[in-house]
Amino acid sequence: MQIIVFIKQVPDTTEVKLDPKTGNLIREGLASIINPDDRHALEAALELQAAHAARVTVISMGPPQAIDALSEAMGMGADRAILLTDPAFSGADTWATSYTLGKAVETVGEFDLILCGRQAIDGDTAQVGPQLADYLDLPQVSYVYAIESVAAEQLVVKRRLEDGYERVECRLPALLTVIGRMKTPRYPRMGGLLKACRAKALIKVWNAADIGVTTAEVGLEGSLTHVIKTFAPKFERRGEMLSGETADVVQTLVDQLKENRLIAP
Ligand SMILES: Cc1cc2nc3c(=O)[nH]c(=O)nc-3n(C[C@H](O)[C@H](O)[C@H](O)COP(=O)(O)OP(=O)(O)OC[C@H]3O[C@@H](n4cnc5c(N)ncnc54)[C@H](O)[C@@H]3O)c2cc1C
Repeated sequence: MQIIVFIKQVPDTTEVKLDPKTGNLIREGLASIINPDDRHALEAALELQAAHAARVTVISMGPPQAIDALSEAMGMGADRAILLTDPAFSGADTWATSYTLGKAVETVGEFDLILCGRQAIDGDTAQVGPQLADYLDLPQVSYVYAIESVAAEQLVVKRRLEDGYERVECRLPALLTVIGRMKTPRYPRMGGLLKACRAKALIKVWNAADIGVTTAEVGLEGSLTHVIKTFAPKFERRGEMLSGETADVVQTLVDQLKENRLIAP
């Protein structure tokens, strides 16, 4: 069984700060991590690796430093890793990202199962997994939190709903998006860490030509959407001092609370 896991390297924060002038994410001083949902997807793949002798390939698209995320994945037990990096890939919207990842899957060739995280904590769209399934014409199950059984041509998964869960049967090959509530992802082991140290040389690095795309098809140029403006909402707090006789001040305060519907009229 061949499994591909997509992992994205993201800043280690959910409180993203934006440069007020450029609207770009301020990455300076922020540590990078494997996107949390993707670590759960990788853990699920590694469990299938143990139970079904599956071969796990991890792929990430990003700047050259995304190799660290792939090294960690190798340390956790992935069999091979591929970094998609090319200046032409930068500025991609979710469509261009999914297209690039899809081309990488076609370049890899054989696969039975693709696992993505449900959502990246920086881009936050949850679009890439479903778009990738659409591009590859695969059945997809989203919000998966347990893979119950895997047979030659089908798998059974549980997906989380707001007020319960659904058990879904799905034919293979398929794509799952995984939520961060599966089993706790493992840490890299000592042997795995040594492998991770050597992994940088083992990780394949592919550029646009390697996956057979032109620069016009990917990155900012290939994106169907363009961000006009990015900004963090401003919350302005206004303080007001009430002065006068205590009874008058209390009455004014009560009136204002009622007026603003903070207490019952
Ligand atoms: C309209 C628009 C314009 C954008 N423009 C820019 C821009 O100009 N510059 C810029 O830097 N970013 C831009 N972005 C953000 C960038 O496109 C997204 O970060 C990227 O497309 C992935 O989307 P996401 O982070 O929302 O991932 P999600 O859809 O939330 O991710 C779901 C899952 O897909 C997989 N995945 C997602 N991205 C990757 C990846 N790179 N490698 C491997 N697996 C991955 C992971 O498994 C992840 O858990 C833009 C986004 C949008 C919506």
